[in-house]
Amino acid sequence: MKVFVPALFLFLPLSVLFAQTIQVRYLGNMGVLVSSSKGQVLIDALHEQYEPDYLYPPKHLTDSIIKGIQPYNQVQYLLFSHRHRDHFSRNLSAQFLARNPQTTLITHVQIADSLPGSEQIVRIDEKAPKAHNKAGISMQPLYLKHTWPERHHQTHNYGYLISVDGKKLIHLGDAEYDPEDFKANQHLLTNIDVAIVPTWFVLFDQGKQILKQYIKAKTVVVTHISPLEKIMAYNKLGKNMIPFFRIGQRLDVQ
Ligand SMILES: [Zn+2]
Repeated sequence: MKVFVPALFLFLPLSVLFAQTIQVRYLGNMGVLVSSSKGQVLIDALHEQYEPDYLYPPKHLTDSIIKGIQPYNQVQYLLFSHRHRDHFSRNLSAQFLARNPQTTLITHVQIADSLPGSEQIVRIDEKAPKAHNKAGISMQPLYLKHTWPERHHQTHNYGYLISVDGKKLIHLGDAEYDPEDFKANQHLLTNIDVAIVPTWFVLFDQGKQILKQYIKAKTVVVTHISPLEKIMAYNKLGKNMIPFFRIGQRLDVQ
């Protein structure tokens, strides 16, 4: 039997041949599930009703996440950018950790101290945030100050870089569009496939400039869009920008 191998196939670099599709699924406000062949990562995903400006996952969905029902059955990392209630629920997180012993929560003092002590919680060294590796998924925390620092300077905010299956994602949390924070992490901000950003990074020039100069992602997922906002405003985004405003919305990253 002859096996047909298209000639072009032979000249593709190995990294392309073995790269796999990963998936980003929307869980309200800035919450996402990242699914890969190595397991899943939840970022800012366990949150509850707070104020009308913030979209949150319904109870049946947070129940499925806590019970570890597919596609939430192999969560390697549980991550939160910061402690504000449109990003983090203490109650849901404690329940999740108790039911999912395989999951590691890597986080900073403000979230770690609000939860019951657990071996699953690993604290970020805030003087020099280190990369973590688990089950073939690497994760680098980045300190990015919370937006509106005059009001929120006491709230620690971390972004996360995730590398898995030959793909690289960044999630900014509620970062301020301060070029200094991105310049300080510039050496890490290379070859980014997907950036998950709050809406002010695409609505204001300072944010757009950071996306262009420092992040340079192939695809930008726009989140933190208020359910009270007119979605029409997002029809004019660049063609590599995808607004997430419906729970369950998905992006396949090839
Ligand atoms: Zn916040």
